[in-house]
Amino acid sequence: MRVGVLALQGAFIEHIKMLRSLGADCFEIRKLSDLEASFDALIIPGGESTVQGKLLCELNLFSPIKKLIENGLPVFGTCAGLILLASEIDGGKEKHFATMDISARRNAYGRQLGSFSATAEFDGVGEFPMTFIRAPYITRVFGKAKPLATVDGKIVAARQGNQLVTAFHPELTDDTRIHEYFLNMAGKP
Ligand code: GLN
Repeated sequence: MRVGVLALQGAFIEHIKMLRSLGADCFEIRKLSDLEASFDALIIPGGESTVQGKLLCELNLFSPIKKLIENGLPVFGTCAGLILLASEIDGGKEKHFATMDISARRNAYGRQLGSFSATAEFDGVGEFPMTFIRAPYITRVFGKAKPLATVDGKIVAARQGNQLVTAFHPELTDDTRIHEYFLNMAGKP
């Protein structure tokens, strides 16, 4: 299993460490020629969705990556990655890949609750410790998307076919189960 990790900005190193600990072969995607390599899955890390969106365009990575996702490349977006995959931004205009039938609200917990932890049930995984950092949440799933976890009545994870998103950061905990879930979803032998 070879996983490309978008490494323009944000918390990509933590994903790489966790995936390597699970035996996946990872490489960083920073420029167009990095996409020439063959790979089986893609990670879009947390960080700042506006910055990542801008860099993706400036580096001519936006359209080729969107096409790969549309053609079925398994993808896991955390936090900012969730925002990049959402086809609607609640209260905002700026959409990015827009490949997933979810509506995301950015910085949705307000200042006071900008960062917090919670433990909640994740469908197919069980109780999971969730770390939120200026996180979005999903205000609506529609079409083919299915919610996988909720915290305080807010949807914080969803899946649509080969696309997985979490509003929280499993890569910042020691718990590898969601990354294992993703690798299985992506067809780990
Ligand atoms: N607030 C960030 C954004 O809007 C996401 C935060 C994160 O990825 N930790 O992109």
